[in-house]
Amino acid sequence: MHPALADARPGVLWLEDPARPEPLAPLRGSTTADLVVVGGGYTGLWTALRAKERDPSLHVVLLEAARCGDQASGRNGGFASASLTHGFPNGQERWPEELDELDRLGAENLAAIGETVRRHGIDCGWEETGELAVATAPHQVEELGELAASMQAAGRDVRLLDGPAVRAMVHSASYLGALHDPQGTAMVEPARLAWGLREACLSLGVRIHEHTPVDSLARAGSAMEVSAPSGGVRAECVVLATNAFPPLVRRLRLMTVPVYDYVLATEPLSPAQLRSVGWSGRQGIGDSANLFHYYRLTRDDRIVWGGYDAVYHYGSRIRRDLEQRNTTHSLLAEHFFETFPQLSGLRFTHRWGGVIDTCTRFAAFYGTAYDGRVAYALGYTGLGVAATRFAADVVLDLLGGEPTERTRLRMVREKPLPFPPEPLRYAGVQATRWSLARADARGGRRNLWLRALDRVGLGFDS
Ligand SMILES: Cc1cc2nc3c(=O)[nH]c(=O)nc-3n(C[C@H](O)[C@H](O)[C@H](O)COP(=O)(O)OP(=O)(O)OC[C@H]3O[C@@H](n4cnc5c(N)ncnc54)[C@H](O)[C@@H]3O)c2cc1C
Repeated sequence: MHPALADARPGVLWLEDPARPEPLAPLRGSTTADLVVVGGGYTGLWTALRAKERDPSLHVVLLEAARCGDQASGRNGGFASASLTHGFPNGQERWPEELDELDRLGAENLAAIGETVRRHGIDCGWEETGELAVATAPHQVEELGELAASMQAAGRDVRLLDGPAVRAMVHSASYLGALHDPQGTAMVEPARLAWGLREACLSLGVRIHEHTPVDSLARAGSAMEVSAPSGGVRAECVVLATNAFPPLVRRLRLMTVPVYDYVLATEPLSPAQLRSVGWSGRQGIGDSANLFHYYRLTRDDRIVWGGYDAVYHYGSRIRRDLEQRNTTHSLLAEHFFETFPQLSGLRFTHRWGGVIDTCTRFAAFYGTAYDGRVAYALGYTGLGVAATRFAADVVLDLLGGEPTERTRLRMVREKPLPFPPEPLRYAGVQATRWSLARADARGGRRNLWLRALDRVGLGFDS
């Protein structure tokens, strides 16, 4: 284990917060509702909130297996990106004719999140800092230059920075250039956003039951019956917001794979340590390799540092003990000090992992089941902090049945290709990860395997 991890607790910095609310009582017995939402991460919480904002008379029940915000929504990097397409290049590749509209909707969505945070007084460190995508290898400088040119040609407000310019902003000798997007990302404290949305839901009359794992869905006449071990709800409509966890609709099982992403948090930087890194703009930073790191400052000037190793476990396993991975945490620590050697001696206080719902197109997909009574949004692939609010509106539109500007989008109507079943799934994911790491080490050159996947629009990302 890396020596800087000697005192690091296995635990999520964001969840170890005195602001964490007390758990709500599990569902007991039978009840009815207009809408049941399964899952209390951002997707479920936004869905319940948007449903009540659209129609305050609706009876909405949200059922969460553990506690709201405990999973991806409470343990992520907190980069709230305007992009609904997992970044501009993925959008340009897949939905070029509607990317302007998607980016307009994404910008409106991000602004609406900021507005909700302010309206409900959610104390979640919402900071509209923008983002820096930094190049740490020569081929990445070239790639960022091409990306900046195509984004600028499409009218996006981004700036290409050369090495000295980015190093003047954030002092890392490893930076060779950067793409600065001042508008497209806000930073947020993830768990506090989830808890704030939960509180907003409660204030509008949503009934939330925690520690209520739903184990089945079934038709009940013209309605749906949603069952948990301790009780059930009969409802007109259901939204599934279960992210990387086994979907309650069987045919969705091959559509996503659970991928573990790992994170470290440092102790708070002293004023002198903070001066040594600059970073007065407090932007979210991501590097530009296939296996990339993302990092940011916290309210109390820690650095949260995550990414790089996206780990898939055979058979789509999800287990508590997989949230800790010594090799990955050590590698992350090593990379941290390569980026900021001036922080040598700084210690990590927390290390954790969380599970991401990767799909083959990297951007969330949407759909319905049970003759339109059940809707779902899955597959955010590591960029769902903001996209979940858009998804909430999409699933409510789908249940409403009337076409909207969202449901007319090709991105919303189309589904990604599924992953193959095991053992091909594991072999395919491992081959892709190996190839991506190799491309990073070989100046970005993609091997035959990656080029074949590119041709059919398949991929693996985090
Ligand atoms: C380490 C990490 C870093 C990330 N960093 C970023 C980032 O910086 N920016 C970004 O945009 N995205 C990031 N993401 C992704 C982002 O966090 C997710 O896309 C987003 O939180 C998804 O929200 P969700 O509500 O769909 O899923 P979740 O937050 O996972 O919520 C799903 C909920 O459903 C519940 N559930 C599952 N099955 C059942 C059931 N049968 N019955 C009842 N409840 C059930 C679960 O307990 C869980 O609470 C990151 C993810 C991780 C793990």
